[in-house]
Amino acid sequence: MRGTVLYGPGDIRFEDREDPKIIDPTDAIIRMAATCVCGSDLWPYRGLQPLNGPTPMGHEYCGFVEEVGSAVTSIKPGQFVVGSFATSDNTCAHCRYGYQSSCAQREFISRAQAPYLRVPLADGTLVPSPGGAPSADLLPSLLTTSDVLGTGWYAADAANVKPGVTVVVVGDGAVGLMGVLSARQMGAERIIAMSRHESRQKIALDFGATDIITERGDEGVARIKDLTKGVGADSVLECVGTQESMMQAIHSTRPGGFVSFVGVPHGVELNGQQLFFSHVHLHGGPAPVRRYLPHLMGLVLNGEIMPGKVFDLTLPLDQVAEGYRAMDERRAIKTLLQP
Ligand SMILES: [Zn+2]
Repeated sequence: MRGTVLYGPGDIRFEDREDPKIIDPTDAIIRMAATCVCGSDLWPYRGLQPLNGPTPMGHEYCGFVEEVGSAVTSIKPGQFVVGSFATSDNTCAHCRYGYQSSCAQREFISRAQAPYLRVPLADGTLVPSPGGAPSADLLPSLLTTSDVLGTGWYAADAANVKPGVTVVVVGDGAVGLMGVLSARQMGAERIIAMSRHESRQKIALDFGATDIITERGDEGVARIKDLTKGVGADSVLECVGTQESMMQAIHSTRPGGFVSFVGVPHGVELNGQQLFFSHVHLHGGPAPVRRYLPHLMGLVLNGEIMPGKVFDLTLPLDQVAEGYRAMDERRAIKTLLQP
């Protein structure tokens, strides 16, 4: 088969690679129905994260089970499945507490921008679609449950979003937009999205944002204080991962409020004194997507949410390089790839 490999900054190639095979008896091989490019793929693509030589790419996936190892019991060939970017046995202590992305046996998926994928710990990682093969129009939304929706949902959950609260979402990438949708689903009364891009503002409003703020940094914080009678927000979702966005999130939160952070931090440093006097709860990290998968797949399959709207570019898988370019140049929010 051919698959996606990053050779260096801006250098994505779709080239011959070995077909994935069952290695451990707990593995499954899936045939990709749809995959996509993640905002986090852009860090190494832009040269902001070092590479150890040519690196296979992709960690968001859904598709049909082709083959399973001899120890796999619940996942069967022919099922349509979605899995997380982090594999999990779903039985260890961390998994049982709902932190499957810290599973004792965790591996990170990194070869999903390809027609076939090996998924370790198949029984614990993959969730089959209860109704069998979904209709084609649901594929984009189901694909979001594999990472961006699960991450946005975790961001809202970790920021303690509840009915009636005021939420701020820092970051208008796909995860931030999913954070807006999730906060709406959880009953937030006011959802303030921080965005400067018209196409993203539109989707944020469509997903349930009540206010849009275009200012950043101290000015952005001042606008949020204006909108909350000087108090600050109850729940703030940090969905970027830079120093500026993290400080913006902490300073926008009321004392006693909650900040979640799901953007992979790049160069973020927190000052202990500032943190101490901010009086906020902090909770973040790689989202335990597996915890939410059954619920989120259900919401999609029942037609209650349409998170797939976040894909504004769809390309054949072999044009993956253009998919990265379009996102890098901000011509696309998120690129869906069809094998
Ligand atoms: Zn585990």
